[in-house]
Amino acid sequence: MIRKAFYLPLALLGLAVAGPAVGAVARLNHVWLSDSTDAATARLQLSGFTRAHYFRLHHPDREVIDLLATRAGSTLRLPRADGWVRQVRIGLRPNGALRLVFTTASAAHMRLVWLRPGRAGRQMLIELRGFGPASVARGQGLPRPVAARLAPADDGRDIIVTVDPGHGGIDPGTIGRYGTEEKNITLAIGRWLAQRIDRQRGMRATMTRDSDVYLTLRERMRVARRDHADLFVSIHVNDVGDPYIKGAQVYILSLHGASSEAARILAARENAADQLAGVKLQGKSHTLATVLLNLSQTTTIAHSMVAARDVLRALGSSVPVNKENVQQAAFVVLKSPTIPSMLVETDYMSDPTEELKLRQPWYQRRIADAIFHGILAYFRSHPPAGTLFAEERAAHMRTLVARNGH
Ligand SMILES: [Zn+2]
Repeated sequence: MIRKAFYLPLALLGLAVAGPAVGAVARLNHVWLSDSTDAATARLQLSGFTRAHYFRLHHPDREVIDLLATRAGSTLRLPRADGWVRQVRIGLRPNGALRLVFTTASAAHMRLVWLRPGRAGRQMLIELRGFGPASVARGQGLPRPVAARLAPADDGRDIIVTVDPGHGGIDPGTIGRYGTEEKNITLAIGRWLAQRIDRQRGMRATMTRDSDVYLTLRERMRVARRDHADLFVSIHVNDVGDPYIKGAQVYILSLHGASSEAARILAARENAADQLAGVKLQGKSHTLATVLLNLSQTTTIAHSMVAARDVLRALGSSVPVNKENVQQAAFVVLKSPTIPSMLVETDYMSDPTEELKLRQPWYQRRIADAIFHGILAYFRSHPPAGTLFAEERAAHMRTLVARNGH
């Protein structure tokens, strides 16, 4: 099959790039590709070193590499791909990363290797090695036809989690004794969390913000709706000097008042972000609209509660937690009528030791990992219909039934 070489719409890319505010931006100037029947090597020529995140997506199998703070060079041409690597694509992420996507004929292991720096900058080798059945051969070679409902479905979609780093821009949130601003800690933890989610097969993260920008609470909810999120997780750090609250806590929306006085105070403070920025809170709804909203929210709150309990449990196994129960309060940011939502107060900054710890990547990552494992536990037991998680759970149930001889 002859396929036309794919050329980048460079003009469009150039317009779309709003590079990161700090640090040097690398350029991707060349991509070479050589592939065999079940493996491939890509060589990237970059103007300099750049950090990279990589992960795997399925249906179809894709290997994804995000080159942070990188743009496409003006002479970049993507290689033709019509073998085991079926397609090479490139795109810009809102955070200024350049995303490379290799669509492969089977799932692959990926390894990134930096070569020694040369005159033209840096070269990165991407080694892709296929494993498992090739997608094209899936379902072939079976001894007898299987019923359609038992055949493995290939269209299980990814679960979408919208990660919301609290505050940002003109709204710093809580400020610690050493000047640590909540907005920076929530962004760091949020990024770790999104990255961890993206590494999980069958799950994908979106972020309400991936830079130091101000968003109203309603804009944050709008992102979750736009991305068709299955879960919304807002990340915060507790206030300095709040005598009521210490340790990590997980909150969900309450329609009937806060579960404690401390929860009420906290909700008032987190909700105040919009007033600080001079935004008028909307929401003067008619009675009927309120009733309908409450009806759908009741179901959503039930799901939020289950998810929040899983996250609190996971947090409790790696960081100190304050309350054994999930707290309920009237947080505006949790008011999506159909998307289960939670707000995680990851830690507190009233203790300067704790504040300094929160600035450490290892600690931010520990918190993010704990939240991730809670989310994973929730979706394993409550997979939304049509997702890969739902299919795998159904397959698992069938195996259990088969083992029991039914
Ligand atoms: Zn906050």
